[in-house]
Amino acid sequence: MICQDCGIEAPTKYVAFYQNIGVLVMRFTKTVEGNLCKSCIHKNFWSMTLITLCIGWLGMISLVLAPFFVLNNLFRYLGCLSMEAVPPDAATPRLTEEAADRIGPYTQEIVDRLNDDEEFEVVAEDIADKARVSPGQVMLYVRALVAAHRDDDDE
Ligand SMILES: [Zn+2]
Repeated sequence: MICQDCGIEAPTKYVAFYQNIGVLVMRFTKTVEGNLCKSCIHKNFWSMTLITLCIGWLGMISLVLAPFFVLNNLFRYLGCLSMEAVPPDAATPRLTEEAADRIGPYTQEIVDRLNDDEEFEVVAEDIADKARVSPGQVMLYVRALVAAHRDDDDE
């Protein structure tokens, strides 16, 4: 719902991409993992996979490891091809005071439903519909709630 890479509100999917750079007996690896939008999946797949293909196998362990990284990236990427693209009007959600006021009356409902183990995305979309805000704003609202709650516990 909110891309963990660029922060935009768009359809996201969980991915894990790996990059390896082999330098003789050393290796440098990089991992990108999380729920990303299609644009970020595309961007990370190509840069990380191309780097791994070019200089990923120049080492002893790397030679064995790099093909697995490339295959993993490829399968993850293929699994994302059917994903909805980022809508042209997608934006980074912001929790305005107005949005918070509209979500406010549903706070108890949100908490109850999450405590009932209902899926967060379903709850967010439902509440967003009722409160006339975006699911991303509901997500930010819940994050703010959790953060406020943590502060309370510290005291
Ligand atoms: Zn993104």
